[in-house]
Amino acid sequence: MYPFILERPRDLSAALALGAQAGRTDAPAEYIAGGTDMVQLLQEDVRRPERLVSLAGLLDDGIEFGLQGLRLGAAATMADVAAHPDVVQQFPLISDALLNSASPQVRNQATMGGNLLQRTRCPYFRDVGYEACNKRTPGSGCAALDAENRWHAVLGTSDNCIAVNPSDLAVALVALDATVEVRGAGGERSVPLADFHRLPADTPHIETVLEPGEVISAIMVPANPAARRSHYLKVRDRASFEFAVVSAAAALDMDGDRIRQARVALGGVGTKPWRVPEVEAALAGASLDPAALRQAAALAAEGAQGRGSNDFKIELMQRAIVRAVETAGARA
Ligand SMILES: Cc1cc2nc3c(=O)[nH]c(=O)nc-3n(C[C@H](O)[C@H](O)[C@H](O)COP(=O)(O)OP(=O)(O)OC[C@H]3O[C@@H](n4cnc5c(N)ncnc54)[C@H](O)[C@@H]3O)c2cc1C
Ligand code: SF4
Repeated sequence: MYPFILERPRDLSAALALGAQAGRTDAPAEYIAGGTDMVQLLQEDVRRPERLVSLAGLLDDGIEFGLQGLRLGAAATMADVAAHPDVVQQFPLISDALLNSASPQVRNQATMGGNLLQRTRCPYFRDVGYEACNKRTPGSGCAALDAENRWHAVLGTSDNCIAVNPSDLAVALVALDATVEVRGAGGERSVPLADFHRLPADTPHIETVLEPGEVISAIMVPANPAARRSHYLKVRDRASFEFAVVSAAAALDMDGDRIRQARVALGGVGTKPWRVPEVEAALAGASLDPAALRQAAALAAEGAQGRGSNDFKIELMQRAIVRAVETAGARA
């Protein structure tokens, strides 16, 4: 680990001034919240900031539910959000996604803001022994393209990067039309989560639309009749403490035995949390008949591109959609 100075600013304005460059490749300063991802990146020499700017105690950690929906402070922990009665009852998809993430110890420490900004688990990104990684070192190439890429994306990829966005929470939130509240030196703004993460294209090192130094201050999830009848299905290599191979978030508004409106998003397959509007449109008005679900799910595969050892994900993600929608539909 490279030496760094830990800054503990007194208030958010001071933090924003200190972190003015945070969030860029080789930035001289970086923010740290719960530290569960950042400390790993420091230990592995993937990040080498001169200064770490602690956000501890500076951001809201509240969880509020009202007529407008759910507001999650950026500093709320994964554990507190997953266990909150309003989240469990009104937004089970969010609670499911969080409880299927990491371990109890990590969830006690990790925050909402940090979760949405955690870095990819691409092994070539996390191991500095691999020189070719456009995300870590722009212009160096991509070690994953012609190597073992079982963990990599089939949607939203480019010839410069095929890394998966690893956040389970983000998949649930994008299905529910969440927005991210952002604070920077220039003020506040609100960004739909669907537009928050960027496709890699030819700049995979720029992962979000955050400007240098901006922080996530809160997440808003609008009230929606589909939110209660929802399910997060996570397919992984072992039953716990593992990232998704493929995941599917489904939320349904039912009209008797027919789907009035569906919200579906995928994880483990996209370079960003992947909403599938074409699948949602096909599900509107359909019954929960397996053949109809399978036909709708097949639309998710349009544009999908495997790179060899991840080809299996294209079939698996369709099956995951069917299972997630069936399970959500069976919920009272
Ligand atoms: C062993 C292990 C298993 C895991 N398994 C899963 C899993 O199955 N599913 C899953 O989704 N996640 C998993 N994770 C990832 C975990 O969810 C993240 O590490 C965690 O959510 C990050 O939150 P944090 O507060 O600790 O962020 P930090 O580590 O403090 O920060 C992460 C990044 O976000 C930035 N940051 C943090 N907060 C803000 C903010 N408010 N504004 C701007 N920038 C900010 C930091 O600069 C840093 O770049 C796992 C992690 C570990 C260690
Ligand atoms: S997939 Fe992306 S993160 Fe992984 S090695 Fe290639 S450029 Fe780096």
